[in-house]
Amino acid sequence: MSDGQALLVQKYGGSSLATAERIRAAARRVARTASSGRPVIVVVSAMGDTTDNLIELACQVTSRPDNREMDLLLSTGETVSATLMAMALHDLQQPAVSLTGAQAGIRSTRVFSSARITDIHPERISTELRHGKVVIVTGFQGVTEDQDITTLGRGGSDTTAVALACALDAERCEIYTDVEGIYTADPRVVPNARKVSEIGYEEMLELAQLGARVMHPRAVELGELYDMPILVASSFSDVAGTLIHRYGDLQMPMEIRKNVRGIAHDTDVARITLVRVPDRPGVAAAIFEPLAQANISVDTIAQSSGADGTTDLSFTISRGSLERAVEITESVSPKIGADSIDTADDLAKVSIVGTGMQSAPGYAARMFGALARAGININIISTSDIRITCVVPRARAEDAVRILHQAFELDRED
Ligand code: ADP
Ligand code: ASP
Ligand code: MG
Repeated sequence: MSDGQALLVQKYGGSSLATAERIRAAARRVARTASSGRPVIVVVSAMGDTTDNLIELACQVTSRPDNREMDLLLSTGETVSATLMAMALHDLQQPAVSLTGAQAGIRSTRVFSSARITDIHPERISTELRHGKVVIVTGFQGVTEDQDITTLGRGGSDTTAVALACALDAERCEIYTDVEGIYTADPRVVPNARKVSEIGYEEMLELAQLGARVMHPRAVELGELYDMPILVASSFSDVAGTLIHRYGDLQMPMEIRKNVRGIAHDTDVARITLVRVPDRPGVAAAIFEPLAQANISVDTIAQSSGADGTTDLSFTISRGSLERAVEITESVSPKIGADSIDTADDLAKVSIVGTGMQSAPGYAARMFGALARAGININIISTSDIRITCVVPRARAEDAVRILHQAFELDRED
């Protein structure tokens, strides 16, 4: 790369590019970084609510939009941002070129709306960088072997950024967003949430998977796999952000660290319960195999056995998949002999996360106690080594986050 300086990838999210003035401000930040001759790749999201608006538009045209057409439609949002960013850089006398995901060589699987990157052919990017240009790549987009445009799933521009950083051996990937870093809970819900200066991949991945939308989970997964440091910071200020990196690189003393590191919540939760299913082998497979084939990801699963040899089987999914999941469950239900199917679409998930929890007892009791005292009913509980998740009524989700933040004293310094 030019002058032997290490490559940097900078990603700007939708709210950071919501207006022409914000695009110009982001371009000034990029130009500052590139002015020393440092090679820079910029990954952009669609402006503001563009993606939501395009989805709404498609739904006004038809109640069942075609998957392929939908991805091509949604990809236009990122293309608008990338071209405008290039123009804003030209205006600052900074050579720059915008590339679509396909032009940037980002190949993907053919799973529309949640495609996965299979490999990156970065020749075009490398050529442009050698010519001293800032290369702007549309986030969220991939291209299949037969040249169809795909998208990587909501929030997927983070994954584009980290994937490019890994493929081109960047020094690090910087994610610029509308908050100053990673907080102990969503700062819009918990006003006294604390920004953490660093966090390991494993904890960040749990938080992201459990609803902290500040990072796309697949971006964190890739970061961990390739050991790529990710800095999350504000695009509106120069305040130091949060570094996501390996545990071995963490500066904080391991043993002194708080055992609960953060709280995540997700309000996009629906539940299906198969009531009084005869308790025999094969029941779970009969339900979850067709759901997997329909590309519906099932989240929390809970089974409660009654004394009469039947069991209630509950699982959660996103609200958008409820209709399709009910169709599938109804078609399977007679085969496995369920009495009835019960559904709810007004739920949320609240989780406490921390690697320290595995070696210290009492976290579950403290969590359930705090929720009980606030009269918040827990529908389903699920746990792993480093997290405890409760499914609660959506109307109480934000209360639950604030109560747990307080109960685990996350507003205090370690
Ligand atoms: P972008 O458009 O930049 O990709 P997102 O809206 O996807 O931004 O993510 C940023 C938002 O994530 C913040 O505005 C914040 O409300 C939310 N968020 C949720 N949990 C956290 C957390 N633990 N730390 C920081 N932000 C969080
Ligand atoms: N524009 C896409 C979305 O809104 C991708 C992204 O912003 O990361 O989900
Ligand atoms: Mg995002």
